[in-house]
Amino acid sequence: MDRAGVRVETTVADAEASADVAVVGAGPAGLYTACCAGFRGLSSVIVDALPEPGGQVAALYPEKRIHDVAGLPAVRGRELVDGLITQVEPFRPRYLLGRTAVSLVPQEGRGWAIRLEDGGLVRAGAVVIAAGLGRSVPRTLPCLGPYQGRGVAHHVPRPEEHRDRDVVIVGGGDSAVDWALALAPIARSVTVVHRRSAFRAHEHSVKQMYASGVRVVTDAQVTACNGTGNLEEVWVRTEEREWKLPAQALVGALGFITNLGPIADWGLRMSNRLVLVDGAMRTNIPGVYAVGDICHYEGRVPLISVAFGEAATAANHAAVGLRPGSRLAPEHSTDIDAPNLS
Ligand SMILES: Cc1cc2nc3c(=O)[nH]c(=O)nc-3n(C[C@H](O)[C@H](O)[C@H](O)COP(=O)(O)OP(=O)(O)OC[C@H]3O[C@@H](n4cnc5c(N)ncnc54)[C@H](O)[C@@H]3O)c2cc1C
Repeated sequence: MDRAGVRVETTVADAEASADVAVVGAGPAGLYTACCAGFRGLSSVIVDALPEPGGQVAALYPEKRIHDVAGLPAVRGRELVDGLITQVEPFRPRYLLGRTAVSLVPQEGRGWAIRLEDGGLVRAGAVVIAAGLGRSVPRTLPCLGPYQGRGVAHHVPRPEEHRDRDVVIVGGGDSAVDWALALAPIARSVTVVHRRSAFRAHEHSVKQMYASGVRVVTDAQVTACNGTGNLEEVWVRTEEREWKLPAQALVGALGFITNLGPIADWGLRMSNRLVLVDGAMRTNIPGVYAVGDICHYEGRVPLISVAFGEAATAANHAAVGLRPGSRLAPEHSTDIDAPNLS
């Protein structure tokens, strides 16, 4: 999969991967941790249960403008994620996407092994947990299952891929409306199917959607999907009638069910399902750090800008842990003379 011009692996050919740092979670906190680890000369493997990097930003609000990231007065979620991927790329992290970290096993001697749900294993000297709200599973409809990955998706990472397609979007929240607006100028047709009459999305966006030429069908449900191999048509039912629409793509924007999942059983000291950390982002387990929305300390504010600072702190402390005697303060990035840094 290509993202921001870089190669993102969704699978690993071999069952094992190893790096200096294993990062659990490819949200803003995890991506920036890998970047800060790279500045210290550490390699990283980034594991995420979702098929796309970017965490909540990519999954829930890629089209929204974020106004409180330092130095970027108004950046779309998608652009921020692309920027993070581009920024970490010189350090060649390995992305294991669509892979859930299920257990943490101490290695003989030093370091940790993270067991993945599909049986894969990631070995690392240090682990940084950047798992945000936990594992997110998209809500879906039974009829979508057979066409998952064959026309049915739950994200729109690259709107351009939908050029000249008939797209059906199911849902009534911000993601459904934002994606409809993003796809309206690109796709051949966009139909939003929502089971209620009112949308939960931002009022201004809903008005824009109605004015944009998107076909909006409310009080309606998708009842069936058909196609030989890939999705070709979608059946929609209201109280009055049932009809079919041509559709080469269906975006299920029905939200996500999140839960902390297996991380809750890793022996981490927790409070209210958040991982407690000290000022160095250390958990109670040696060599295991936590950053971003999953971590907790007194006074923490759940913001991306805060997560970035935590990522830098964790990566630099991990560097000292892995290379005792090295300085905690990193070299200033302005002093790094590496040809691969743009
Ligand atoms: C609608 C909305 C608008 C927002 N607007 C703003 C804003 O304007 N400004 C701002 O600063 N913040 C905003 N936020 C909050 C911001 O998105 C979060 O603070 C931020 O995403 C946290 O980043 P993170 O990397 O810690 O976690 P996340 O973004 O949640 O990423 C965590 C990742 O970990 C993965 N994961 C979890 N468990 C596992 C596991 N066991 N194995 C593998 N992977 C796992 C998940 O799949 C996920 O991709 C907003 C949030 C929402 C929902």
